[in-house]
Amino acid sequence: MVYSYTQISRYLRCPRSYRYRYLDGWTEKNTKASMIFGRCFETALAAYFRGDDCTQTLFKEWGSYRDAALEYGNGDSWDKLVHQGVHLLEMFARDNRIGIPGPQKNLQLKMSRKLSGNSEFVGYIDAIGNVDGERFLIDWKTTTSRYSDSPDGLLALDPQLICYSWLTGIHDVALVVFVRKRMPEIQYLKATISEGQCEEFGRLVSETVNQIEAGRFLPHSGIRFPINGCTTCAHLELCLGTQPLIDSKLIRQPGSSDLDWLDQFEE
Ligand code: SF4
Repeated sequence: MVYSYTQISRYLRCPRSYRYRYLDGWTEKNTKASMIFGRCFETALAAYFRGDDCTQTLFKEWGSYRDAALEYGNGDSWDKLVHQGVHLLEMFARDNRIGIPGPQKNLQLKMSRKLSGNSEFVGYIDAIGNVDGERFLIDWKTTTSRYSDSPDGLLALDPQLICYSWLTGIHDVALVVFVRKRMPEIQYLKATISEGQCEEFGRLVSETVNQIEAGRFLPHSGIRFPINGCTTCAHLELCLGTQPLIDSKLIRQPGSSDLDWLDQFEE
């Protein structure tokens, strides 16, 4: 078995949702404009570091979705997203705080780590490079609202960054957040993940994999604040048994052991 951060975090959020996705094959139809735009934006960022025209790349990538039937968030449109994207790319170039030496090998790095038995944990790291002249593991995010940056040190509790630190052995991590709001903003957030946090994450992965391989998929349902995961769960309709919504929102793929890396673009 091959595991990823997305799989482990889905299991921890709700084991039943994990079973729907990875064992039964129920996936969301990939029509969220924000998620697809995030992927196009990251392709444009890669072009920037290769020295290519990143604005042109963004237009080309996002342009192929111009007439697609995508679900846009409140007040969003194809034009608005591309406008925000260009603005953010220009800001990023002006800030000039990130350097990626050898972009061919230091962007979208596949890393893996052996687990017990025949299992393996695999992750794709957005970048390893310099932030303000110092070496960091870097994760990009596109989002519509700022990340919380207080109290100091909060970012060191981000489970995805802890996971990547555990996977790579790099303890200095940075999150570069491209905030798509009326006045676009880029946050450069840094943290140091301790060795102890990495060890604990490794234990969390082992325990979670043991639960999965033992077939334990009891639901962690929740509809009351602050545990209201069901209201944003991709599999809500399966739990409620509402067939018309299942048909409109989900598709069922046979097998389904593939890794849904794109979940990582969730806002
Ligand atoms: S709707 Fe709730 S109980 Fe059902 S899979 Fe989603 S999170 Fe779990």
